[in-house]
Amino acid sequence: MRVEQEAMSTERMGTVGRTLGMLADTWTLLILQRAFLGIRRYAGWRETLNISDATLTARLRSLTDNGLLYTRPYREGGRARLEYRLTERGRDTWRLLLATWAWERSWVPRDVPLPDIVHLECGRATDVVLCCEHCGAAVGPQDTAVSISGMVAGRGGLARVHPRRTRGRLPEDPLSLLPGAMEIIGDRWGATVLGACLVGVRMFTDFEAHLSISPEVLTDRLRRFVELGILVRTEDAGYRLTDKGRAAFGIHACLVDWANRWQAADGAPVDLHIRHRACSHPLRVQLNCAGCGVPFTRAAVAPPKPAGP
Ligand SMILES: [Zn+2]
Ligand SMILES: [Zn+2]
Repeated sequence: MRVEQEAMSTERMGTVGRTLGMLADTWTLLILQRAFLGIRRYAGWRETLNISDATLTARLRSLTDNGLLYTRPYREGGRARLEYRLTERGRDTWRLLLATWAWERSWVPRDVPLPDIVHLECGRATDVVLCCEHCGAAVGPQDTAVSISGMVAGRGGLARVHPRRTRGRLPEDPLSLLPGAMEIIGDRWGATVLGACLVGVRMFTDFEAHLSISPEVLTDRLRRFVELGILVRTEDAGYRLTDKGRAAFGIHACLVDWANRWQAADGAPVDLHIRHRACSHPLRVQLNCAGCGVPFTRAAVAPPKPAGP
């Protein structure tokens, strides 16, 4: 029943709403991350992610249905099985995953540090700088204009869908644990609230009016964002992004960019659009190496290995 409702409302949504419903999910992001590390078979994800069969099956189906993975048959022990490979649009999530990793590394304190981001072209352990692909300039949230048309948060659509919560324990290796970033993009509501903060929504009633979010879920996400130091309360009982919150713009911009590159190709209407004010072009994300200034390519990022012994 819930699945039907979700499918129905997804159909009516625009590019970013759809993407949030599909990609803003902790397990989905971890499955994709492992696919980049070369995992292709069901058992590979199950062993490295400590994920239940039901959850893994559902997420692989969602990724396949949405065109991020495709299946290829192989034989094992005389039985026909399927393996899963990244499609072009699946591989194109690398910027989102890289931006997520960079933000977590810079902003979320942890006992075991995340692996360094190594730019293979210059050989440096480095950070990423969000830039505009059109003009090459570095871009922060203050350099952009956002237009919203339609139902990003699914007025009349998403609001009726239960938030998908990650159940069960996440795997414990340092690569998998991105606790800060997963508060932001591990479920669609966190991602939606962050997006609203980035376009300047500050007051509880305005979040409610813009997002059509239930007061309970909204209260929960705002409280978590304050606990995590992404938002602070203001004197007029509103909310303001901290430096840490503003830095998460990179994650948001990559999500919106991916949505508008790929979901629009399926005929979904563009519901949220970020423009780089300096050059007036829609923001297509380019991630530059902070060390040498050269744009990262997917092949020039050293694949992360779990850190430590
Ligand atoms: Zn530009
Ligand atoms: Zn470099």
